[in-house]
Amino acid sequence: DSHIGEAPASEALFDRAKAIVPGGVNSPVRAFRAVGGTPRFMVRGEGPWMFDADGRRYVDLVCSWGPLILGHAHPEVIAAVQAAAAKGTSFGTPTPGEVELAEEMVARTGVDAIRLVNSGTEATMSAIRLARGFTGRSKVVKFAGCYHGHVDALLAAAGSGVATLALPDSPGVTGASAAETIVVPYNDVAAVEEAFTKNPDIAAIITEAVPGNMGVVRPHDGFNRELADIAHRHGALLIVDEVMTGFRLSRNGWTGLDPVDADLFTYGKVMGGGLPAAAFGGRAEIMAKLAPSGPVYQAGTLSGNPLACAAGLTTLRLADDAVYARLNATAATIGELATKALAEAGVPHRLATAGSMFSIFFTDAEVTDYASAKRQDAEAFKAFFHEMLALGVYLPPSAFESWFVSTAIDDEALEIIAAALPRAARAAA
Ligand code: PLP
Repeated sequence: DSHIGEAPASEALFDRAKAIVPGGVNSPVRAFRAVGGTPRFMVRGEGPWMFDADGRRYVDLVCSWGPLILGHAHPEVIAAVQAAAAKGTSFGTPTPGEVELAEEMVARTGVDAIRLVNSGTEATMSAIRLARGFTGRSKVVKFAGCYHGHVDALLAAAGSGVATLALPDSPGVTGASAAETIVVPYNDVAAVEEAFTKNPDIAAIITEAVPGNMGVVRPHDGFNRELADIAHRHGALLIVDEVMTGFRLSRNGWTGLDPVDADLFTYGKVMGGGLPAAAFGGRAEIMAKLAPSGPVYQAGTLSGNPLACAAGLTTLRLADDAVYARLNATAATIGELATKALAEAGVPHRLATAGSMFSIFFTDAEVTDYASAKRQDAEAFKAFFHEMLALGVYLPPSAFESWFVSTAIDDEALEIIAAALPRAARAAA
């Protein structure tokens, strides 16, 4: 790969990591497998910028895969984390911060009750257990290309890293677990109806509020509401996964823009302000089934961690309407610059947007589901990605991921993006 050798410090770190960490990374997409070359080891972030171990600066359009709506090391978020840390890092008891964070989330989303956990994976895993416990049923309907974390039953036809690495379903997931999951194409109401006709034992449908893990694929108008309808007609629950979209696309999430009568929601990313925090919540009657008020067990040594709650609460309190307007405007600007550059270079592409989340599919054809998302030109993306990286813009290292903006993106950062895009588009042509 022509770009290997441009990042000697990262390369040395990657070699050390590969000797003792599988693939050299602690989460697969970080390894640059789809695009090739050396993943950059980041040492510092500030506003819109990340700095790698070789001292190079990048405009960050990944934002830690979504959490950092205010950019890196926002002074108020850092001050809140430092103040919390100075008072002790963990107690294993209830703390005021977790009540405040839950109150803020309930006020924004309208859910009746919230339980805090540490990762999106835990949130969806627990929401599914709760749906099964509440309904007394076993099966789950999920959509091909939706990623809900590495929960056994949800790794079937999953997006994100599973798509990036072109893996079939994961070894280690038992047949019994996979048999409880019914995978249907996204945006296909008839397939969901048919699943219910054939299976009386469905506890829940789980869907990304708007999928961002096969690239951004918008739900057809009314799709999420139809899912709620079908689930409820059949005595099942709808779980809407807002881990990626929650508190990023609006004060609430995607469902703030496209309301849906879901029974359970999952959250993560933004609500932790860059520290590990996630949650699931929903209707009081269902949430009351959770231990200790009910029989469905779920727990966590570090759940509601005071540092994570301080980072999350400070981020949410700063995230007013002006923040969302700015995220939307910045995303629109970058989306326009990218489509203009690609059109001028004659590169087939489709811009897909959902609020301030967007991605570019390197194809002419319409993308409405996982099958159509997979028909893009991976080589074109690879060339595009590496040129952007070389010119100081950090994109997700996969064509199956959303791009994420922060309010920290300023004129200087936008100028770098605007200068890089035409060159990257020509490299992709
Ligand atoms: N759900 C969605 C929609 C996600 O995008 C992700 C992560 O990208 C998850 C769940 C899993 O979250 P985590 O990586 O915190 O386990």
